[in-house]
Amino acid sequence: MSKIQDAMFQDIRNKDIFEQTQRYAFEYLESVFDRNVYPTEAAMHDLSKFDEALPITSTKAEKVLKQLNQYGSPATTATLGGRYFGFVTGSAVPIGLAAKNLGTFWDQSPALNVISPVGSKLESVVEKWFIDLFNLPKHTSAGFVSGTSAANLCGLAAARYRILQKNDWDINEKGLRNAPQIRVVTGKQAHSTVLKAIAVLGLGKENIEWVDVDNQGRIIPELIPDLDENTILILQAGNVNSGAFDDFDGICEKAKKSNSWIHIDGAFGLWAGAVEALKHLTKGMEKANSWAVDGHKTLNTPYDSGIILCADKEAITSALHMSGSYIIESTERDGMFFTPEMSRRARIIELWAIMRYLGKNGIDEMILTMHKRAKQFANEINQIPGFSVENDVVFNQVIVKCNSDKLTEKVLSNIQMLRECWLGGSMWFGKKVMRVSVCSWATTENDISKSVKSFEKALALIE
Ligand SMILES: *Cc1c(COP(=O)(O)O)cnc(C)c1O
Repeated sequence: MSKIQDAMFQDIRNKDIFEQTQRYAFEYLESVFDRNVYPTEAAMHDLSKFDEALPITSTKAEKVLKQLNQYGSPATTATLGGRYFGFVTGSAVPIGLAAKNLGTFWDQSPALNVISPVGSKLESVVEKWFIDLFNLPKHTSAGFVSGTSAANLCGLAAARYRILQKNDWDINEKGLRNAPQIRVVTGKQAHSTVLKAIAVLGLGKENIEWVDVDNQGRIIPELIPDLDENTILILQAGNVNSGAFDDFDGICEKAKKSNSWIHIDGAFGLWAGAVEALKHLTKGMEKANSWAVDGHKTLNTPYDSGIILCADKEAITSALHMSGSYIIESTERDGMFFTPEMSRRARIIELWAIMRYLGKNGIDEMILTMHKRAKQFANEINQIPGFSVENDVVFNQVIVKCNSDKLTEKVLSNIQMLRECWLGGSMWFGKKVMRVSVCSWATTENDISKSVKSFEKALALIE
C-alpha cells in the first residue's frame, strides 16, 4: 500500500473528518439565519489566505477542512436564510441538504441504469411526478441537468433536431451548413441564457424575430409574426425582473395551429403552475413542446438542479444521443440520453427527497408563502416616502426604485453595505431599479419588515 493510500484509509476508518465537517455544518446552520447576509470586509479580506501555490507535500485532511471552514464559511452569502433577495437564488429545504449529504457518500452517476440503479429509479419516479404536478402530456420526458441554462439549451436542441428532421435534414449527420433556415421568435425580454442557447446552437442571434413586450415584460400577442412549422417560439414563465408570465393560453393555441415548436423558459416561474391560487398564471402552458425549469430556484433544492421537460422524447434523445461500443443500454431509464453530459452527479437524490417530503400541498404552501411575502414587501415599501414599486407583483419579484437613478444606485449600495439583507440592481425600461426576489422557504413576515426597515435606513443615510 502506498503512503497516501494508507492515509486515506485512515481517514475512512476513524471518521474524524466527517464528524469535523458535521460540526462545522451545524455551527453554520446555527448562525446563517441571523448573521450578516453578505460577508464582512474582514471576511472578504481573509479570502487571500487561499492564495497559495499547490503544496508539494500532502496535508492532514483535518487541517484542510479547518482552513476551508475558517476562511470559507464567513465569506459565504447567506442564501440559505430569509433575507437574501438577489438573483432569484432560492434557499435549500433542510431534507434536501440531508439527502444530498447521504448522496455525497453514495457518489453515484445516473448516466446509465447499470451505473446507478437507484439514480435511474429516482429519475423515472420524479419524471412522472413532474408530469402529474404540471399536468403535462403523458409521454413527456425529463432530463436532470445543472440548471435552466442547460435546460434551455437542451429544449432548443430538441426543437432544432425536430424542425430540420421534418425538412429531411439530419442535423447530427449534416450539421448546419446549407441546412434549411430555422426561424426563432421571442420577446424582447427573453432571458440572456435563452440568447446564449440560440448562439451556441448556431441559430444566430441576428436571426431572432423580436416581439415587443408590454409594461410588465410580457409578449404582446397581437405582435407575434405569422408562424410556421420551421419556427421556434420561445415564451417565458416568470420575467426575471417583474416575475410576469406570457399569455400561454392564447399564444400557444395560435402557435399550435401553425405547428411551430413552443419552448417555455420557466426557470423559477413554472412553479406557479403547482400552486392552486397562482395556477392562472401558467394556464395553457401544457400546450408547449418543451419546458425549462429549475429545482434550485423556487423549489429550493440545493444547487445545481435544472430540469428539461420535453413532450417529444424522440427529438430530445436524438438531439442529445451518443453511443459507444462500451455503453450498456438498459430497458430501464438511462439518464444520459436526456442530458448533454454522460457522467454527472445524481442531483436527483435531493430533488426526489424534497418533493417526497413536501408533497403537492407542501409545494403549494411553500411557494404561495413566497408570493405572500413578496406582496407584503411591496405593500410595506410603498408606504415609505421615497420608494415606489414598479411592477404588478403577480409572483415573487418586486421592482423598487427611488426618485432618480442616482438615488436608487446610492440607496442600493447602502443596503448592500448594511448587510441586513441583500439584493441586486437591474434596468427596467431605461431606469435603474432594485430587484427583490422572494425565493426562500425561510423568509418570514419579520424578515420582510426588517428588510424594509433596512431600505428606510439606507435612504436616511443619504438625506
Ligand atoms: C435563472 C434563470 C435562467 C437561468 O437559469 P440557471 O439555473 O441559472 O442556469 C433562465 N431563465 C430565467 C427566466 C431565469 O430566471
